[in-house]
Amino acid sequence: MSDPQTPIISMRNVSKFFGDFQALRDVNLDVRLGERVVICGPSGSGKSTLIRCINRLEAHESGEIIVDGTVLTDNPKNLDKIRGNVGMVFQQFNLFPHLTVIDNLTLGPRRVLGLSDADAKSRAMKYLERVQIPDQADKFPRQLSGGQQQRVAIARSLCMEPRILLFDEPTSALDPEMIAEVLEVMTELAASGMTMIVVTHEMGFARRVADTMVFMDKGEIVETGAPEDVFTAPKSKRFGTFLQQIL
Ligand code: ADP
Ligand code: MG
Repeated sequence: MSDPQTPIISMRNVSKFFGDFQALRDVNLDVRLGERVVICGPSGSGKSTLIRCINRLEAHESGEIIVDGTVLTDNPKNLDKIRGNVGMVFQQFNLFPHLTVIDNLTLGPRRVLGLSDADAKSRAMKYLERVQIPDQADKFPRQLSGGQQQRVAIARSLCMEPRILLFDEPTSALDPEMIAEVLEVMTELAASGMTMIVVTHEMGFARRVADTMVFMDKGEIVETGAPEDVFTAPKSKRFGTFLQQIL
């Protein structure tokens, strides 16, 4: 399973419909252990749908998704395994507002992984230190800045010790001065070897961190390539036009 040649995520001819509307069209994507993939593309192109299919927040209708050796189906046993292996960080942080930072972080490890209170707490402090806000442990989310809340959300994912982290536009809801601190945490995570799929339009981050760029449009993967290639000379007209608009 940990053979570096075997993809840790494999999507084969995956299609996804919302009613009559096809949100994903024959998507093929392989992600290797430790690989950093950045997905970009216009609004509505299916980026969120694609990554939500990887942890089964959405169910695909056809094709096959294999995550860390487990085929994604509705089998609840498989679902638990996938959710434990795949963490997700959302644009809107999704912290529990009525829980302190430390309680947000210990909830999953205690309830899902069965850690003792003491073990969950020491694990939470370890990851709060990693995102550089151990001093905020006893605050409530509303008492923190957006950048701090997103760092808490990243730490909360890390507390489950997932093999893969998915990020859905993690800096899009942040004021500009807070984007850098979140990207810095993500850059460090990437350097630590975490397998990451990041939906973002932060192309500076993509250039620095991505092994592979994926460009989506209208539910399709239109182009994939190394950042140094696609940013210099995108193969498809659609990607070229998109890059001109956002760079
Ligand atoms: P992106 O993240 O690239 O902006 P999404 O994956 O969120 O795009 O959405 C792709 C398309 O699927 C959009 O046209 C969107 O309106 C549609 N869509 C997404 N989620 C749903 C849903 N739950 N029900 C119906 N349509 C949806
Ligand atoms: Mg989206």
